[in-house]
Amino acid sequence: MRKKIVAGNWKMNLDLNEGAELVNDIFKGLPVLSEHKQVVIAPPYLHLTQTAAQLTGMIDVQLGAQNCYSESAGAFTGEVSAAMLKSAEVAFVIIGHSERREYFREDSAMLAKKVNQVLINDMKVIFCCGEPLEIRDAGTQNTYVETQINEGIFHLGEAQLQNVVIAYEPIWAIGTGRTATSAQAQDMHAHIRGVIAAKYGKDVAENMTILYGGSCKPSNAAELFACADVDGGLIGGASLKASEFLGIIEAMADL
Ligand code: PEP
Repeated sequence: MRKKIVAGNWKMNLDLNEGAELVNDIFKGLPVLSEHKQVVIAPPYLHLTQTAAQLTGMIDVQLGAQNCYSESAGAFTGEVSAAMLKSAEVAFVIIGHSERREYFREDSAMLAKKVNQVLINDMKVIFCCGEPLEIRDAGTQNTYVETQINEGIFHLGEAQLQNVVIAYEPIWAIGTGRTATSAQAQDMHAHIRGVIAAKYGKDVAENMTILYGGSCKPSNAAELFACADVDGGLIGGASLKASEFLGIIEAMADL
């Protein structure tokens, strides 16, 4: 049975006190999750050791990072390696978020190297893909996303792919309040699963967790998560408020 995941990406928000408070508030309202359901919290790097300490002993809630560098060590001022993240008890690393692709010019070759670094260090990848509005308007989103997946993760073997979660995040829906309809999300998720099946076989594709991201909130999470190929969400803005994040987690818990 494939895992359902709700992952919160705090982006560059919250100081250490605010972060600690948010995690405590999430704990207070956290529903009991069945075996195949999981929450991931991905704060900024600076928070990781503090959040890791708060998560000690939790099985349902795991620590995530928002990025890592593409090389293993060396003279790369300001960067953080995957091995460092592993030593801070990080379990998941988000790679290829559209903000990294756009503002930091991360191309597919670099993202493929980052994916490798995460996997070599025994963590899981949340690999983001998704099209800008002009591609959606042109109707070529399926090919666009397929290319991102092909270039970012198709160099992996079947065993490695089992440690990859895909997050489909249409750029036009990120932070805009404009969510993809459940039909749009389902169509793309089914397409992605088909692309995985064509390369790795049906069993691998059926076991792959594919998250939706883009203005997901308590009011639309249940409908999105009810789609056959949507296995949870990668949450930005709504992960910064305990009540909203918990509302989304509830939608997963109820499935
Ligand atoms: C994101 O950036 O991953 C995201 C989904 O953001 P938001 O939920 O704010 O649209």
